[in-house]
Amino acid sequence: MQFENTLNFAKQMDRKDPLKKFRGRFIIPKHKGKNVIYFTGNSLGLQPKTAAKYIQQELTDWAKFGVEGHFKAKNLWYSYHELVAGPLAELSGAKKEEVVAMNQLTSNLHFLFVSFYRPEGKRIKILCEAHAFPSDQYLLESQLKFHGFDPAEALIEVSPRRGEYTIRTEDILSAIEKHKEELALVFIGGVNYYSGQVMDMKTITEAGHQAGALVGFDLAHAIGNICLDLHNWNVDFAAWCSYKYLNSGPGSVGGAFIHTKHHRSELQRFAGWWGHDKNSRFKMEKGFSPIPTAEGWQLSNAPVFSMAIHKAALAVFEEAGISRIIEKSNKLTGYLRFIIDGINNKSNVLEILTPETAGSQLSISVHRQGKEVFRKLISKGIMADWREPNVIRVAPVPLYNSFEDVFRFGEVLLKSFT
Ligand SMILES: *Cc1c(COP(=O)(O)O)cnc(C)c1O
Repeated sequence: MQFENTLNFAKQMDRKDPLKKFRGRFIIPKHKGKNVIYFTGNSLGLQPKTAAKYIQQELTDWAKFGVEGHFKAKNLWYSYHELVAGPLAELSGAKKEEVVAMNQLTSNLHFLFVSFYRPEGKRIKILCEAHAFPSDQYLLESQLKFHGFDPAEALIEVSPRRGEYTIRTEDILSAIEKHKEELALVFIGGVNYYSGQVMDMKTITEAGHQAGALVGFDLAHAIGNICLDLHNWNVDFAAWCSYKYLNSGPGSVGGAFIHTKHHRSELQRFAGWWGHDKNSRFKMEKGFSPIPTAEGWQLSNAPVFSMAIHKAALAVFEEAGISRIIEKSNKLTGYLRFIIDGINNKSNVLEILTPETAGSQLSISVHRQGKEVFRKLISKGIMADWREPNVIRVAPVPLYNSFEDVFRFGEVLLKSFT
């Protein structure tokens, strides 16, 4: 695609954008009375305008029905989570019975580890990426200790090579091969939160299985952002949060994927009544009998208010279609890359760490006065994200960002060096 660094070109791209109407579906924060340029949808997606209406529906039904809302509300609370399974399956490349919205991300991972991290004999190790998101690091460290292992020995972290920013797939594969006798689990972030690197989940899953390990992914930065095909990739399990690209509100309900092949297995799990067979749930009898789908991993009844926003947000994805969203994302982030490369030809202080991949986010290393540059961006109404020591992460989100946003960001960025 031939890009141009002009306002005219950006506006022309916006006019031709088949998803342009979706920007109007979100509430964009203001800076000095004008819309900000919001490039932090990878941290917290913007509020869909329908969110308030969806919550109001549940407040109204609560007022009207009290406890009977479970079976009388317009959207039955009893089965509320079922309403979002379809769109989640679409976004994750799963069968509907393989996904469930529940709990939150880190808690889901701990619960999934009960089933999928089953160290036995020599096979106790977990392989992950170096510098995983801190919550994932704590997850792994505490899980290993819980089972009585020393993380220094039982955790294998694969790093980028010296002087590189991203992890080579071949290095992950050779680490799997090297530890294949001792590997219980491969657990990796599908898109690295720091570099934006998209992992080759299909290849990693195959290699993990060949080594006799199970394979899971943290999809916090992947779902709603890149194309996922979890079922066909044969991934064992995955989990995500809904407040980043899924625009479902701060701390909103998380989600999990469990491959069908495990639904009727004898895997251990921590149980709760919402995972119990629906027909006998209210008999309140002894003896846990799990629903033979991902729902069987649920513990508690659905947090309806956060689910309501989730439902509102997923409806936007359904309408826009994930393939069209990704198509626009490639162009939008491609344009951002083009603009930054152009600035760099003049200033030579920027370096894009993110490899040429399909995700929205670019992580830009600023080799001089990074913090000052970042402050200038903020003062001009650009919301980006700062990561020590010198990285600015920017994520133009196809549902609500425009090519004009990217152009204007470039203008401000160039000026912030001079
Ligand atoms: C955002 C993020 C989290 C956050 O976890 P919560 O349990 O939702 O607070 C965890 N892991 C990764 C990789 C993330 O990007």
